[in-house]
This record gives sequence, structure tokens and C-alpha cells, in this order.
Amino acid sequence: MPASPPTAKDPRATPAMRQYAAFKERHPDCVLFFRMGDFYEMFDDDALVAHRTLGIALTERTKGVPMAGVPHHSVEGYLRRMLAAGHRVAVCEQVQDPKEASGVVERAVTRVLTPGTLSEDGLLDEGDAAALGAVCFLDPGDDPAGRVSCAVVDASTGAFIVFDTTADRAADELARRDVRELLVAQTADGEAPPRARRVAEASGAALTPRPAWQFRTDEALEALLGHFRVATLAGFGLGDDDPAVAPAGACLRYLIETQAPDADPGRSALAHLAPPRRDDPDDALVLDVASLRALEILQTMRTGAPDGSLLGLFTGRSAPRTPMGRRLIRQWLVRPLARREPIEERQGAVATLVEDPRVADDLDAALKPIQDLARVAGRVGVGRASPRDLAAIGASLARLQEVRDSIAGAPALARLAESLDERRAALTPIAQRIARTLVESPPPSLRDGGVIADGVDAALDEARAMMRDASAYLAQYQTRVAEEFDLPGVKIGFNRVFGYYLELTKAQARSAPDVFLRKQTLKNAERYITPELKAFEEKITGAESSAQRREQAVFSALADAARAHAPDVRAAATLIAQIDALACLARVARARGWSRPTITDEPILEIRDGAHPVLSAALGDRFVPNDAALGTPDQPARLALITGPNMAGKSTYLRQVALIALLAHTGSWVPARSATVGLTDRIFTRVGADDALHAGQSTFMVEMVETASILHHASARSLVILDEVGRGTSTLDGLALAWAIAERLTGDGDAAPTPRTLFATHYHELTTLEDDRPDRVRNLHVTVREWGDEIVFLHRIEPGRTDRSYGVHVARLAGLPASVVARARGLLETLAVTHEGAGPASLRTAARSPAPRMPLFTEFLEHPALADLRGLDLDTMTPMQAFDAL
Ligand code: ADP
Ligand code: MG
Repeated sequence: MPASPPTAKDPRATPAMRQYAAFKERHPDCVLFFRMGDFYEMFDDDALVAHRTLGIALTERTKGVPMAGVPHHSVEGYLRRMLAAGHRVAVCEQVQDPKEASGVVERAVTRVLTPGTLSEDGLLDEGDAAALGAVCFLDPGDDPAGRVSCAVVDASTGAFIVFDTTADRAADELARRDVRELLVAQTADGEAPPRARRVAEASGAALTPRPAWQFRTDEALEALLGHFRVATLAGFGLGDDDPAVAPAGACLRYLIETQAPDADPGRSALAHLAPPRRDDPDDALVLDVASLRALEILQTMRTGAPDGSLLGLFTGRSAPRTPMGRRLIRQWLVRPLARREPIEERQGAVATLVEDPRVADDLDAALKPIQDLARVAGRVGVGRASPRDLAAIGASLARLQEVRDSIAGAPALARLAESLDERRAALTPIAQRIARTLVESPPPSLRDGGVIADGVDAALDEARAMMRDASAYLAQYQTRVAEEFDLPGVKIGFNRVFGYYLELTKAQARSAPDVFLRKQTLKNAERYITPELKAFEEKITGAESSAQRREQAVFSALADAARAHAPDVRAAATLIAQIDALACLARVARARGWSRPTITDEPILEIRDGAHPVLSAALGDRFVPNDAALGTPDQPARLALITGPNMAGKSTYLRQVALIALLAHTGSWVPARSATVGLTDRIFTRVGADDALHAGQSTFMVEMVETASILHHASARSLVILDEVGRGTSTLDGLALAWAIAERLTGDGDAAPTPRTLFATHYHELTTLEDDRPDRVRNLHVTVREWGDEIVFLHRIEPGRTDRSYGVHVARLAGLPASVVARARGLLETLAVTHEGAGPASLRTAARSPAPRMPLFTEFLEHPALADLRGLDLDTMTPMQAFDAL
């Protein structure tokens, strides 16, 4: 940008800078990207922020005004980086053609970009779900059981849900729904209340305090009724005084403000937004953030990448074919179903696709070309549809028909097919109109022209005809001039500044006729205009801008018409996503040879030859399958205690059981010969601090906090996975805690049903629990073969307990120097390490025991005097005899 000369006047007194100041005042919390010609400029502090965040040069347009700019054609990359660095950005555009402006060009903030309100293709990766959430705390104080009402909107697709939860579960529920930005009513001092800060932090969302009045039910209700043009929310299944109205209304206001800050209020900018729908928390199996992490559902603990996670099995070649299908499968894994009928409905569809490869193949071919209709609906709904977005709607009709045809013969998919028919019917007129109006594959932007087909608009056709004729005219005019004035070297040219011209070399210029009017002098040539060429130029520029205007007018009429159908597009996208995700489940089931689990209402778990879905995919035949049974008629115990040396396969077994239960609840087939899975309300998974420390994120405190949450929340329908809990502290503490926790999970002696629990521990002492309560506790161990000095891990789970740790063997396997191993073995013998009978059971009975022994690893060698003391018969001694003996 050319710098304007410094003036003595206030540098901020220019009209553009005054305009800038006005926008900045309206968006003080944003970095303002101010469009000036081909650049977005930032000023003052914003320029410094941009300089630091984007590494772009800091300049001064006028003295004392720091400035930094980015070129408009690459703005998205810069916006992404600003957002990633946690900034909010207001984008201020020129909304008037500078050529038409008298004085300063009109500008408007067309978009405020925040982490939870993105819908732009360039700012949001396909798989990113970046939702906006809002919370209202309904009860005063910090009670963990206090009620919280939440709303979550996905701005990019228009999905809008509300739900109730409790203070201690809010963060988990928001995280599972990919909330990236959380709205909360600010306190009197304009801050966010501390409990909201805690929820935001635990769920990983940015916190945005909003005016408290927006969270008042009457204000929120007004916003919702106005937007959806209804007199009551009853039609959406919400009472007008429902606590969820407040967060829902707050979300809506925020979306309107950020999506189209300067839109005229009469015109709703969010046509794609679905009416809020209540999510019943009992519909979904609950998985907290800690369990998601420990079970490696979306990413592995070690690398943080999806590769090697459960989700990883549903990506790559098996992945859903459409972007919305890929996002949905992720949702299904994170929020499995909790009720039998919907699970079995999904199973029915998967069964069809597993058993009938022809249907699956047809469906596959039909799904593949479908674009991201969900996000197209979003952009259409907020009035930012590109020519390609509208073309996608036009093309989708044929695609929907193909999908529908491919599942026509499958009764299990009939409900989906029917809904698809309805959407297709609703979309037919607009899709046909789009197909008629646009060229077959339009350019990405309207600016480039060539978007509207010929024959749609008479004025456009005429202007185009004129532009087409122009080159023929120019060629013919050049020949004519050359002949008429005997100037064989004359050339016609065009440049942006001077327009059309006739060019002569310096030598020829001497014989230029009078009709040639000099326009521009170059080093070796002169350029001229003639009245005829001038007239042509005016006509052709007129034609160009008229074509542009006509294209714009036709396109925006079409976009407006499409906007009214945004909800249908969204609904069609939702159906496609479901069909696509079901097809993916079937593909994985077939490729991996998984089997259909039986879902039952009894809270039991029975697995034959189960495998860890991810590890078995990697190991193939080398993976050793294992059975599991909890609460079954044969194995009534609901707590299984698993012992075995390090590296034997305990953690793998625990996780495989949890993952099979989880997959069963998504409607998927499972890696097992057969599986019967009782409906489960929550799956809790906790890994002892040592294991989690590898991921650098846990401490003993975290372990205990998490375990406390299990003991408070696990119900008779829950599945609890505890892996080496109690390891993060000293041996005695750890053992005592593990003991108490296990005991509690067996029901504290009362008859109430307890959660299904798998408890892996290296505290062999715990296995005595089975002796006390064989109906409640079952010991399992991982088998190991000793082979001379060697041990071989068989990875097979068998009934019974282990009494050896094989720690020294494992250390040798790990490559500890032979001399150290030998020394350890020697020490082991002299320390007389024992486990037999020395457990907490003996702790408990120590008082009565005739020969109390210190439990754990070292045998306590008594002082001989103790034996004498023990030999005294206190019941028959007088106080004096006792005194003497002492
Ligand atoms: P633990 O928790 O008992 O220390 P892990 O479950 O972490 O043991 O397993 C250790 C390793 O043993 C795994 O990384 C895996 O390679 C192997 N493994 C575990 N279970 C099996 C199995 N069922 N079949 C084959 N290999 C297994
Ligand atoms: Mg382990």
C-alpha cells in the first residue's frame, strides 16, 4: 500500500480512520480486520497483536499509528492462526464498489469469528466439530449435584440441542459434544463466575461471559420465538418456562451477533438453525472425559493421534464416505446409545448391510460423491453460500435418489428411505431451479463471473453476446485502421489503467492521423485512442458491469430461495450421515469378522473369545482371545479381580471388555465369537497414576478424585474398569485404598446390586476378597509359563489367583544388565519375600491372630521378647503378676 504523506493534522481524522474507530468501538474485544482495497489492515494494539501472532511486518501508515496488513486473497490462513492463538476477530468488509463510492467507501463488520461459531470452509477442517455451548446454573452454591441447564449449537450445521445435567457432569457432557466456546451470564463486575470457569477449563472450552439479561428466561424466550416465528416452543417439546430456554436463547443471540453483526434485523441470518431439541441424558451411555482418554476412544494416550485409537478403526478405507458421516461416527463412539430399541434398530440396518454385500456396494457408490451437505446448509442458512454450495444442493437431488434406490429393498432401512423421500420431495423444486440457473461446474466465487448459465436472464445474455463479439470487432477494427491510414504496424491493446488503445512505434507515430488522440507515451511507442474505439470501450465496459450486476442479482435471488430450504438440506444431510455411518459399521464388521452382540436388559456381561479391537487388528492371529463373564448365572460375581505379572495383558483385557461393551451400545458388531451385553448406563475407566503418568497428565490426586467420582456415581447398571488403582502412592497406602475401593464395589455387605467391575491389581493380597465373598468376587489371573529362568506370557485369562510378580523376570526381559538381575534374584531370596496369606485379610484379623505378621513384601523378624509376652495368660494373672512379668 502506498503510504500517504504525513500531515500536520490528527492522523486519525481521515474519514476511513473515523470509520475504523467506530467499528472498533462496537467490537472492543476483537482484533479488527479492516478491509482497505486488496488488504485487511489492523491498527494500534491490534497491529501489535497481529505482528506478534502472525509474524507480519509492523509499519506506520501515518506517523504514530502502528499498522499491519495481510493480503485479502490469503486471509483465511491468517484468520486461522489468530483463532488458534485464542483471539476473536471481527472482519470488516467494503460493502460498496469503490468505483461507486462518493467519498469514503461503505464498510460493515460482516462476521465476528470466535472458536464456537465457525462455519467457514477455510476455517474449519472437515472433521472439526466446533460447537458453541451455554450454561445456566440453576442452584446456588457449589453443590456438585446442583442442576445445570445447557444448550449446544453447531453453527456450521445448525444442529441445536438442550439438556440438563449436574454441576459435576457438565464439563464431561460439554466436552463430549465438542463445545469449544462456552457462554455464561457474567456477574455484576462483568466477570465469569468461578464455577463456570471450572466447567470451561475442565471441558477445554474458551469462556465468553455475556450480559446477564440474555440469560433471563423471558428475554431468551422472546429471541427464540422471534427467530423461529412461533407463538410457543411447545411444538419443539419445550415449555416456555423450561430452564433450557435461557441458555438456548443466549446461544441464539450470540450466533446472530457473530454470524451477521450488521445484517438488517428483519432478515434472519440463521435460516439453517434447527429448532432446539431436548436430549434426554438417559438416551446416551455416559462416558466421562477420563474414560474417553483411558479407553483411547478418539486418540491414543501416548501420541494423542487418532491412529491406534478406537476411532482409528473407523477411518481410512473403512471410513464413512461423506464428511457428515465421518463426523457422525465419531459422535456415535463418544455418545453410545443407552436404550435397547434404538440400538437394535441400528443393528437391524447393519445386519442388512453385512449380509447383503450388493446393497452395501450400491450404497457405497451412491454415497461417495456426496459433498458436505450439512455445512452447505449452514453456509446457505447464514447467507454466505458460494456458487459451488448452491451447485451442491442442485446436484444432491440425483444423489439422494441414488442412495434411496440402493437401499430400496432393505426393510431395516425403510424408515430412513422414507424420510429421504420426504426430503427429496421438499428439495426438488429448488434443486431443479439451481440446476437450471447455474452453469454445470461454477467457479468458486461469484466475483469471477461465469456462474449463471446462458438463457436464464435476457439482459445477461445480451451483455455476454456483446463481450463475445468484442474480440472479433477489435481484430476487424485493427485491420481496417491499418489499411485506411496505411499503418501496417498498428496494434490494438488494453490495460487496466488506460483502457483500450492503438499503439504505434516511435517511427510510425510521425504519420499518425488526426483522429488518433495521444493517450500515453512509452519509451519506444505512442498509444492513442480514437472516437470509435472510445465508443466501443464504453459499450464494452458497460456490458461487463451489466453482466456482473445481472449475475449478482440472479445469484442472490437464487441464494435467497435456497436459504428458505436450508432446513431441508440440513435434514437430508442428517439422514445421509446416518446411512453413511451405518454402512461404515457394517464395513468394519465384515472386514474384521466381528459378530453381532445380543443386547439384554439384565445387567450382565458375557463374552466368548473377545479381542481388543485395536490390538487384535494389529496382531492378527497372534492375539490371544479371552472370555469374560460378570453377573451371569454361571458366574454370578460382578467383580472380577485380575492379577498377573507386568506385561501379562491385564490392561489389554480390561480395555477390550470395556470397548466391546461400548461398541455394542453404538449398534456396532464386536470383536468376539459371541457377546451378550446388558444395557449399561455408564462406563467408568480409571488407570492408576503410574500408568497415566506416562501421558504426563495424572497424579495420585487426580486418580483419587476420579475414583471418588466412580464410588459416588456407579449404579447397578454401570461398568467399572479399574486398572492398578492405588499405585500412585506408597505400597501400604495404595494397598489399603485399593482394598477399600474393591470392597466398596462389592456392596459393603448389603444385598443391593453392584456395578459390573473389572479390577486389575498387582496387590495380590486383594485376592483374599474372594474367600470372604465368593458370590461377589471372582479371581482371575493371566497365565504365565516358567521355563527355567525364563517366563513366557500366554496372555490367557484363567480363573484363580497369581501369587508371584515375576518382576525380576520382566526386568530381565526388559534388558536390565545380567549382573543386576542376578543380584536382584539373590536379594529376593534373602529378603524372604512372601505373599502367602499375608494380605489385608490378615490386617483385618491381626488383632485376633495368634501370630500377627506384617503383610506385604518383607517378613518382619520378631524380637524374642514378643513371644514371651504372647505366652502370658492375661486372664489368669493378677495386676501384680503382670507388673512383674513386664
Ligand atoms: P499388563 O497390563 O498386564 O502389564 P498389557 O495389557 O499392558 O499388560 O499388555 C502388555 C503387552 O502384551 C501388550 O502390549 C501386548 O503387546 C501384549 N498382549 C496383551 N494381551 C494380549 C493378548 N490377548 N494377545 C496377544 N498379546 C497380548
Ligand atoms: Mg497394565
